[in-house]
Amino acid sequence: MMEQKLRWIDGFTKRREEEFTGLSREIWNYAETGMEEERSALALCRVLQENGFRVEKNLAGIPTAFVGSFGEGSPVIGFLGEFDALEGLSQRAGIDVKEPEEKCGNGHGCGHNLLGCGCLAAAVAVKEYMEEHGLKGTVRYYGCPGEEEGCGKVHMAKAGCFLGLDAALTWHPMDFNGIEGRGSLADLCMSFHFTGKSAHASSCPHMGRSALDALELLNIAANFMREHIIPEARIHYAITDAGGTAPNVIPARASAAYEVRAPKREQAKELKDRLLRAARGAAMMTDTEVEMEDGNSYSDYIPNDFLNRIAWEQLKKVELPVYTEEERDLAARLRRTFSERARDVGDEKERRQEPISGNLVPYEGTGGCLPVSTDVGDVSYLVPTVQLYTACCAAGTPGHSWQMVSQTGCSIGEKGMITAAKVLALTALCLFEKPELLKEAWEEHKRKVE
Ligand SMILES: [Zn+2]
Repeated sequence: MMEQKLRWIDGFTKRREEEFTGLSREIWNYAETGMEEERSALALCRVLQENGFRVEKNLAGIPTAFVGSFGEGSPVIGFLGEFDALEGLSQRAGIDVKEPEEKCGNGHGCGHNLLGCGCLAAAVAVKEYMEEHGLKGTVRYYGCPGEEEGCGKVHMAKAGCFLGLDAALTWHPMDFNGIEGRGSLADLCMSFHFTGKSAHASSCPHMGRSALDALELLNIAANFMREHIIPEARIHYAITDAGGTAPNVIPARASAAYEVRAPKREQAKELKDRLLRAARGAAMMTDTEVEMEDGNSYSDYIPNDFLNRIAWEQLKKVELPVYTEEERDLAARLRRTFSERARDVGDEKERRQEPISGNLVPYEGTGGCLPVSTDVGDVSYLVPTVQLYTACCAAGTPGHSWQMVSQTGCSIGEKGMITAAKVLALTALCLFEKPELLKEAWEEHKRKVE
């Protein structure tokens, strides 16, 4: 039975590959940054509509957030697509030298053009298969804007956009093939604004109350705090307003942006509360006032082992890409532009023969924590979620780099995208064929969210 599905998906991607790689190039070319992905979102909606999906736009009041649905009733399986680019990373595709296409332009340094189109290809494949084989259920494609900036999924989650989903499937371009079993850091952003009293710093300093003094005391408190927080936690800050540039004026205002990260969102919340108390203490010490302004917040990612194992079985079955001599040569030349540390990634012998990883990183269950944050976390709190990786670039390619932009706009990235589409589609089809599998995924989910 499985072999038949695999053959069908192989046939589908062979027939339709150009359509989806073409769309990926189109979005790569638009290179629109978070929450401004107008043309990219339009292009994705266009393809959804052409393929018979019902499209609903403007989700959570965000013009570039949308969902395309096909079918009716349960199970409801959703793919999470992203399509935002990064500022200032413009780069010509398929070359091994740093050369912007457009001065100060943007670029797909995280490969979200591939991410969005790979998920779309999977959604269309699943829809066609369901029609052909009379499978029941609903397939959804979520257009999730602003992963890099704006945390689209967080707003969509708050607005209830993921309600009714039985499982969420996504992937990310990487330099290896595997399934994510680790969680990620919850990330809470906030700003502290101090208000004091301005005065001449020499003639009447006693009349002033320095907001900058308060801010400095808060930063000192945060730095002392570091010794007494869990080792995985992170505290970052940036002074966003020092209250002026004249040393002879007591600053009446000062602000800092803070970010706290921890493996679980309750732990991050605890750190945030401690910082707020430190800020109040700093204000008391300096006889100033403080106000905290809430910023973006990302939940940690909760991987679902049961769904991961289903996806892993599919990944093992799918044939990994075969690269042409030119692609391997480009990857090898790009590798020479990486720092020594990045070049040391993986098995050296393998790398010498194959500059793009053709290996599967074995799936070893859930556990551990990635030292980064993603808005997929907020979806994973609501519904069992799977995150797949496929090799879309030379081994060791740094994220958010011109080398990544070069590869996400050429066939190296696109081959990884098609692999991802196949694995995601096959995983979804397993769930449509045996919806009872979802019960176990949900039992695990409920256990982990509690
Ligand atoms: Zn990314």
